[in-house]
Amino acid sequence: EPVIRTVDLEKTYQMGAVRVDALRGVSITINPGELTTIMGPSGSGKSTLMHLMGCLDTPSGGSILIDGESTARMRESQLARMRNRKIGFVFQQFNLLNRTSILENVAAPLLYAGVSLAKRKKLAVQALERVGLADRVHHKPNELSGGQKQRAAIARAIVTQPSLLLADEPTGALDSKTGHQILELFQDLNRQGLTVVMVTHDPEVGAMTRRTITIRDGLIESDIGPAGGVQP
Ligand code: ADP
Ligand code: ADP
Repeated sequence: EPVIRTVDLEKTYQMGAVRVDALRGVSITINPGELTTIMGPSGSGKSTLMHLMGCLDTPSGGSILIDGESTARMRESQLARMRNRKIGFVFQQFNLLNRTSILENVAAPLLYAGVSLAKRKKLAVQALERVGLADRVHHKPNELSGGQKQRAAIARAIVTQPSLLLADEPTGALDSKTGHQILELFQDLNRQGLTVVMVTHDPEVGAMTRRTITIRDGLIESDIGPAGGVQP
C-alpha cells in the first residue's frame, strides 16, 4: 500500500481579485521505502504540494490518502493527529525553538503524542544518535552549526517514527559541503527504511535520488525513476 497518494490535487490561492492556480491536478503515488526528489522552477507549486501532503493546508480540489486513509473529511483536530503520527517535516530554516535544549526540541512531537517523560527522553536520544548528534543533547540550537541544526531538525522529524518524511529545501540554508552531508544522512535513513520526499532546487541533489518528479506551472512535467514509471 502506498504511503501517500495524491489524486488530481488542486490548490487555488485567492488574494482579493487575484487568483493563483498553484496546483492544477497533481497525482503522485509514493510507495514505502522510496527516496524521491521534487524539482521545478520557483513558483511552480513545490512548497504548496509539500504543505498539502503534510496536511499543513487543505486542497481546493482532488484528494490525499495517507496509508490508505483519505484526509478529505477530516476535521482540523484529526488532521493534526495525522500530522503528528504519520508525517515528519524538515524545513529549510530548521524551525528549532532557540530557548530550549536540543533534547527538548527533538522530544517535543512526543509530548503532543502523549508519550511519558522517561520514554520521550529515551526516544529523543535514540533519534539524536541516528543523526550523529548524541553529543549535543544539552546544547541550545544557537550553539550549533547549520548542519548540526538541520540534523537536530531531522531527529525531531523522525522521533515519532513517521510513515513519511517531507523535506522542503533541506539543504537550502547550508553550504554545499554541509548540504551534501545532510543528503547522505537522508540516504542513510532511507536505506534503513524511511520513506523520504524532498524538494530541491539543486540538480546535483536530484541526481542523487532514484526518482525525480518535476513540477511546472502546477502540473507534473516528468516523473522519472522507480514507481514513477513513465519516461517523459
Ligand atoms: P515553489 O515552492 O515551487 O516556489 P509555491 O508552491 O511556493 O512554489 O508557489 C506556487 C504559486 O502559488 C506561486 O505563484 C506563488 O506565488 C503562489 N502562492 C504560494 N503560496 C501562496 C499563498 N499563501 N498565497 C497566495 N499565493 C501563494
Ligand atoms: P526498545 O528499545 O525495546 O526497542 P522502544 O523504546 O524503541 O523499545 O519502543 C518500545 C515501545 O514504544 C514499542 O511498543 C514501540 O511501538 C513504542 N514506540 C516507539 N517509538 C515510539 C514513538 N515515537 N511514539 C510512541 N511510541 C513509540
